Amino acid sequence: MKLSSEDIQKMMEAVKMTREHELDCGHCYDEIDQFVEMELSGKNAAEVMPLVQQHLDLCGACREEYQALLDTLKAFID
Ligand SMILES: [Zn+2]
Repeated sequence: MKLSSEDIQKMMEAVKMTREHELDCGHCYDEIDQFVEMELSGKNAAEVMPLVQQHLDLCGACREEYQALLDTLKAFID
């Protein structure tokens, strides 16, 4: 399938539209430590910060970052 520049334009618009309702990686990264802290203190982080949860579900890079931070902090607590 060959894309015309018009198709690409349309896709770019669609991507921009979704992005408005989502966090980007930089923003998510800023929130991850807070998210992890909340989770470790037994609060429902996903409920308080649903956009972060949503981003973690979608984005492997941030999920890895989240997991690493979680493991680090858990080790620190134990
Ligand atoms: Zn991300």
